[in-house]
Amino acid sequence: MRYLSTRQPDLPDQETHDLGQALRLGLAPDGGLFVPERLPCFAADDFSACADLPSTATDLLAPFFADSALADELVGICRESLNLPLPVVELLPGQAWMLELFHGPTAAFKDFAARFLAACMARLRGKNNHHAVQTVLVATSGDTGGAVAAAFHRRPGFRVVILYPEGRVSARQAHQLGAFGDNIHTFCVQGNFDDCQRLAKQALNHAELAESLALTSANSISIGRLLPQISYYAHAVSALATRAEGSVDVIVPTGNLGNALACILARDMGLPIGEVVLATNANPTLDEYFSGGEYRGRPGIETLANAMDVGDPSNFERLRWFYRDRDLREAAISAFSIDDETIRQRIVTTWREQAVALCPHTACAVEVLARRLESGAQRPHLLAATAHPAKFEAVVEPLLEQAIEPPPALAELLARPSHARPLAADFDALRRELIALAVP
Ligand SMILES: *Cc1c(COP(=O)(O)O)cnc(C)c1O
Repeated sequence: MRYLSTRQPDLPDQETHDLGQALRLGLAPDGGLFVPERLPCFAADDFSACADLPSTATDLLAPFFADSALADELVGICRESLNLPLPVVELLPGQAWMLELFHGPTAAFKDFAARFLAACMARLRGKNNHHAVQTVLVATSGDTGGAVAAAFHRRPGFRVVILYPEGRVSARQAHQLGAFGDNIHTFCVQGNFDDCQRLAKQALNHAELAESLALTSANSISIGRLLPQISYYAHAVSALATRAEGSVDVIVPTGNLGNALACILARDMGLPIGEVVLATNANPTLDEYFSGGEYRGRPGIETLANAMDVGDPSNFERLRWFYRDRDLREAAISAFSIDDETIRQRIVTTWREQAVALCPHTACAVEVLARRLESGAQRPHLLAATAHPAKFEAVVEPLLEQAIEPPPALAELLARPSHARPLAADFDALRRELIALAVP
């Protein structure tokens, strides 16, 4: 499989990259996002006999790895990185199931992608005989940083530098981000998430720094994060299809459209998925577009579901590319925007009626389910549950009027001391810190 850029014209003699190059570069040289030249096709029941996620992923991703330096490593990559619990829990008998994606080390779905990317990068590093320590620089609004840190923690040949915005992540997220130590360096930036992203971009574009620290990014637009996410939808709907007799509609809480695009691609590759329903917070860009309006990217607004505070989803460019010959608004994709007050009410109602605690992101999906059922939807639904509620304790605990136990892996991190260093939202300050890291 070759990879091209979303921004390059569709001509036969265009420059293409293999998967290893696409992973190393992150972003295409013309500033576009990497996309596979085509999508492989599968039959709806191709994965029904796969016993676990690593086996589904190995079969599903083989075409994407074909002819790359990592082709022979795919089995090992999937076994090592995707061996996380993946429960499908019934929410409404025979009608709705939750795909719990939060049983990894940092209790959010981003663990799957971060671990997969780390497993790929470690193997690429071995093949390229890199000697210098590579520095993975990541700007985070909360969950990405922790997932990347956990995936690279104590991995020889890598260090991770995390930039998170002061006061914009939950207390537990902040503690977790600073609790790794060893090869993980955490900075609490005196600014917002946009400042963190700008600083990371400036460093990556700074030729001298990028060279001396072997800088690389693990941001959410890497193709290496999109691919493994396709596999958990494939695995879950294959298992459900027998129980639900046919295809299911899938509701995905969405910010940058990474997780949701993976679901759309799983469907377009032949898996038994009907409609893909995007559940956003109060950021209205996708709701407007899929309700027939223009696509209008804008700055994100802050909400309770803060991992989805995105006004201009970066993966929209990829989605549009995949649908370049078709009308995206006729593609059985819909979007609903949910405001903070409704998120609060949904967390309370679901707790009272079903004794299920939801994180604010997953609450958006459950609210969308309720609206669809009210308007007469009959088909079975699968909902992506993106984070454990204990990770968003400041929102969830007061609503439930009780404490929520963090899952064991998160509890273990929270029990460790946490050291984030303050950093001015200023490139010179970051440059000095980075240079200091490189001096042993
Ligand atoms: C990152 C994140 C999202 C949004 O995922 P996208 O791929 O950006 O759409 C949703 N929920 C949680 C808990 C997250 O951490």
